[in-house]
Amino acid sequence: MPALLNRSLVIHPYLVDHASGSYLHLADGRSILDACGGAAVAVIGHGNAEVIAATAAQMQRTSYIHTGAYTTTAAEDLAKFVLECTTAVNGKGIQFTHGLKRAFFVGSGSEANESALKIARQYFFEKGELQRQHYVSRRQAYHGNTFGSMSISSVVGRRIPYEGVLLPNISFVDPAFEYHYRRDNETEEEYAERLVRELEEHFLEIGPEKIISFIAEPVVGATSGCVTAPKGYFSGVRSLCDKYGILLHFDEVLCGMGRTGSYFAFEQEDGGVLPDIVTIGKGLGGGYVPIAAMLVNDRIVDTLRRGSSVFNHGHTFQAHPTACSAALAVQKIIRREGLVSRCGDMGIKLGQCLRAEFGHRQYVGDIRGRGLLWALEFVKDKKTKTPFEASIGFGAQIHQAAFDLGVAVYPCVGTVDGVVGDHILLAPPFNISEIELDIMVSTLRRAYHETSQPHS
Ligand code: PLP
Repeated sequence: MPALLNRSLVIHPYLVDHASGSYLHLADGRSILDACGGAAVAVIGHGNAEVIAATAAQMQRTSYIHTGAYTTTAAEDLAKFVLECTTAVNGKGIQFTHGLKRAFFVGSGSEANESALKIARQYFFEKGELQRQHYVSRRQAYHGNTFGSMSISSVVGRRIPYEGVLLPNISFVDPAFEYHYRRDNETEEEYAERLVRELEEHFLEIGPEKIISFIAEPVVGATSGCVTAPKGYFSGVRSLCDKYGILLHFDEVLCGMGRTGSYFAFEQEDGGVLPDIVTIGKGLGGGYVPIAAMLVNDRIVDTLRRGSSVFNHGHTFQAHPTACSAALAVQKIIRREGLVSRCGDMGIKLGQCLRAEFGHRQYVGDIRGRGLLWALEFVKDKKTKTPFEASIGFGAQIHQAAFDLGVAVYPCVGTVDGVVGDHILLAPPFNISEIELDIMVSTLRRAYHETSQPHS
């Protein structure tokens, strides 16, 4: 009987003995190629000696400080480093800076989003706009598991026990998901325009003067599987937020810090769409330590500074020196080894392999990706895009078959409205080798073959 309380009380998790590079080595002797980095976390793979040494050195130097009165070089250097990543060259070759001015380090993506909800409200509080009490999010979004972050998420399964006690004053609009929701007679641009129009209608229904922020993942990760927005959508969203003074919060907990082939996924949206708040997580510390961050722009920093001069929020372990030094070591490796652009290049190769291998398969409805984040979505009928019955769990079967063959992929979190969600997600380390990439795809082919036989 395990002593650890996990998500499942009945399934016993696999015991990992140790992990190195792209592999997890189980206590039962099996080695598993970690093609999803856990949950898109292990960006430089496991067991990196440089990160371990930097982390140990920091623990010897200063193991803990309380940020109420103190800071550390580790935290300051990491903040500088991350904010430096916010100067980018957009799709038109023009250098631009994101205007993100301060970083707030916490222990998880949920906490980062929780912090973002709070600073956004405090921003309007300081400005005297007390009537702004409403957040707008999107359906099929996952922003975390704490009460606040779950309240802006619409993953039905996870919300069920808490319905009625989640935060009020939150509403949801449709996601931008071309594969399922773009109408046959619509171009990509027309679909984006419709979504932006619908968002404005929603803002007007609520009363835009009551809205604090609009929250979205630029590339949707776990719920529906690497869903990118149609051209023009996010620039339209930015214009709407500007028109009504609403803050734009991008949740890049999954896709930020290089995963999509640029430090931030939003850099690739319509030549670069700038948010007011960004949250990052998984790729920041690469799983060596629990760390995530909220980054805010000068508009917010200046308003708080002119007002109370205090961010009315904080955690005992925020900006933990050990976590910050480990994350800094991870980020230095990524920069030194050019892993963000490698992520883009390897992503192109992975996409080509997946399309060649699965494009013609009967039950693969869509293959989509950006950088080293790819999803295969499974359907019973490709023409009508009808999914398998939820009880079949086709994606979950592929996940299990691949695992039994030695490759770990990420299964979907769950359906939102019975239409989407039957997918697997691939998010290997940025430094995965070409050989490992080939093993990943050929193993998936075998897993697909085994799974699809009974349905043919
Ligand atoms: N936001 C997004 C987009 C995520 O994918 C996740 C986790 O999967 C979270 C927030 C929550 O992060 P955490 O699990 O670190 O609390």
